[in-house]
Amino acid sequence: MTMPTLKLAATLRQATELVAHGLAPAAALADLEKVAARYAVAVTPAVAALIDPNDPDDPIARQYIPRIDELTTRPEERADPIGDHVHAPVDGIVHRYPDRVLFKLVHVCAVYCRFCFRREMVGPGKDNALSGAAYAAALDYIRSHAEIWEVILTGGDPLMLSPRRLAEIMADLAAIAHVKIIRIHTRVPVAEPARVTPEMVAALKAPGATTWVALHANHPRELTDQARAACALMIDAGIPMVSQSVLLTGVNDDAATLAQLMRVFVECRIKPYYLHHGDLAPGTAHLRTTIAQGQALMRALRGNVSGLCQPDYVLDIPGGFGKVPIGPQYLIGNDEADREARDDSSYRVVDYCGDVHAYPPEP
Ligand code: SF4
Repeated sequence: MTMPTLKLAATLRQATELVAHGLAPAAALADLEKVAARYAVAVTPAVAALIDPNDPDDPIARQYIPRIDELTTRPEERADPIGDHVHAPVDGIVHRYPDRVLFKLVHVCAVYCRFCFRREMVGPGKDNALSGAAYAAALDYIRSHAEIWEVILTGGDPLMLSPRRLAEIMADLAAIAHVKIIRIHTRVPVAEPARVTPEMVAALKAPGATTWVALHANHPRELTDQARAACALMIDAGIPMVSQSVLLTGVNDDAATLAQLMRVFVECRIKPYYLHHGDLAPGTAHLRTTIAQGQALMRALRGNVSGLCQPDYVLDIPGGFGKVPIGPQYLIGNDEADREARDDSSYRVVDYCGDVHAYPPEP
């Protein structure tokens, strides 16, 4: 059966609009209104066209259509799950690692993802963009820290800015001698591909620094022809791309979907980079998998799917302690006690089928 395609003229932002367009059941309206009063909602025409309104478990809808579960906050969940605030020396900057900073320019996005780890910081009611003074102070901070090699524009979604403003920002950053890399994290090529125009792409390049773009997508269906064309425009202009995805229950928590997603990235010349374990953002428990599930999925990718398609499965340690890989281990039982216990100093290595092999110890 062909999926009905919803053709919208504008982004939906109200619970009543979601119901009116068949993206949520009328019986859920009161619940949706409560959620929408708490967390921003936006479903663009490009995203709405991907949702099958007849499928109650649609993996695209799960990412963007609010659910009442979002109002249940578990004790371990927190407003600032990855600790942006503790590493913010000035407004708009997060300096968590020595050689790079996040630069949060805007607090708006084309769509609002139900699992967003910055859901308490993004959306229409939050400060829209950095003030002129805050922007100048953030630039001064970057200028005065020679160890900053990479600036990561994030948000909100930086591609919500106009090409003119983005070009100014890129030029300001590229003029700082020690800033060599400007990385832009965005969901716009998927959520609103029409924003990626030749003018926008030109704005992303500035002499003096290399631009990388990280595309956020979680399901292979999100890489539509339009999204692929938007990415191709950037890549053909010489901007390398990487991917980031979040492991989400009912969206991509099965081996076939995850493999397909990674393959589609590679087919689009986007190198799979991060598969994030779901952060402890408030009201997102229904979308989080267990770490054991994530590791099993990574095991399924390894060996069965090309090496080009392997992302790093990572966890942001709550509190701001940074990101660490938490994928499965293939060198097992190799600490000193293990090796003494079996009276054998060889290493133990697991292959992609789960079989264990010995590897000779160093002479
Ligand atoms: S686009 Fe990114 S910042 Fe915006 S709501 Fe989605 S995950 Fe959050």
